[in-house]
Amino acid sequence: MERVTGESIPAGVDQFTIERAISSGFPLLKFEQQLESAFEQEVASDRCRQLVFGGLFGILLYDLFLIPDWIVAPGTFLTALWVRLGIVTPIALLMVAALYLSPPVAVREFLAASVGVVLGAGSILYLMVVGQGIHQDAQHQSIILILLFVTMIQRVRFWWAMAACIACFVIHAAGLAMIPVYDSEFRISANTVFGCAVVLTLFASYVLERETRMNFLLSLRGRLQRRDLDAKSRRDCLTGLRNRRSLDEVIESCGLAKADGEELAVILLDIDHFKSFNDTAGHQAGDVCLKRVAGVIQSELRDYADDVFRFGGEEFIVVLRGINLPKAIRISERIRRAIEDASIPHPALSRGEVVTVSLGAASAILSREIRVGLVISAADAALYSAKRNGRNQVAPRLPVVEIVEMADRKLRRM
Ligand code: GH3
Ligand code: MG
Ligand code: MG
Repeated sequence: MERVTGESIPAGVDQFTIERAISSGFPLLKFEQQLESAFEQEVASDRCRQLVFGGLFGILLYDLFLIPDWIVAPGTFLTALWVRLGIVTPIALLMVAALYLSPPVAVREFLAASVGVVLGAGSILYLMVVGQGIHQDAQHQSIILILLFVTMIQRVRFWWAMAACIACFVIHAAGLAMIPVYDSEFRISANTVFGCAVVLTLFASYVLERETRMNFLLSLRGRLQRRDLDAKSRRDCLTGLRNRRSLDEVIESCGLAKADGEELAVILLDIDHFKSFNDTAGHQAGDVCLKRVAGVIQSELRDYADDVFRFGGEEFIVVLRGINLPKAIRISERIRRAIEDASIPHPALSRGEVVTVSLGAASAILSREIRVGLVISAADAALYSAKRNGRNQVAPRLPVVEIVEMADRKLRRM
């Protein structure tokens, strides 16, 4: 079975295309265009390598027949040497060399099939020119080996294998007809055996190619499923935003030396008085509120949508690359206003009051000393300050002294 490599999913191929191909059973051993070219692209380099090795192996075996030639029919050995090494081998080698250049699919399969036909024709040519007596009788079926070589070793694509096998049958039948010592009964018998071998090996070739193709489809299906699972494992199932795990990966990538020098802003956002929202309206209503707030944040972030995460509970975090503090404050203010404008009624506050959020924004140019964790801490401290100053507002990063003081106060409260 051809090896199917990598976890990549070819462009334009989706679950639907794959399932359709699997259920169709592709009886003609052909997928729809995009899937077919993805299949060919994926197996191309392995296939060429396999065909080159197989081809060389086949030629070597063919030439090893010179040993019995020498032992059984030494009188015609030189002629055998000439037929095998002087005519058949160079032609077959040229074809194998062309396979080494990774030609297009049709050319590749044509060449692979042709190597077989050349060796097959070579076998018959050998019999006609130099074969004699017992050696000839024992060797005349050797062309059956070519069928095995084409279908099982080279695994030439079924339709090309069919053409090659039929060509071998014609060569075999024509060759026998030209060898005068064989009478018609012998020819009929030998051609019947050879014909059956053609049918059986082609049957095996069909099954093999179908399995190879099915294996490709199942591998693609597996890859798609793994990709979906992977994406799901990075999403928060309530809000659909990216989750903490996904954030950790972003933090990790920003911690790499290559991120040094990159400006990065963090906005931490917390829903105001959310505990009392839950206590009054119930957890389910709280969940609906969380979803709506998440939706508003995402819609306000358009270009940065991929970088908003549910940080935990009713807190969200936005990581914006290449954004400085003034811009981060503007974006924060836009989000704050959008949530207020969403007018989600807050059941625990006085009539007409709506759900609001407090935001802390910070930014920094990353370096060995300043990592994302530090920027998040700064945004956290700013958020704390926004809460302390009355909620429903944006607070920018605080001076370092204040951050340290605040961290101390938090520690003391714990
Ligand atoms: P503050 O304005 O200071 O932020 O007050 P608060 O009430 O929002 O903050 P507090 O931390 O006291 O309460 C957070 C609440 O968020 C507590 C918890 O019931 C609620 N919460 C956390 N996760 C979820 C969730 O997944 N669904 C729902 N419905 N509520 C949640
Ligand atoms: Mg909170
Ligand atoms: Mg809160």
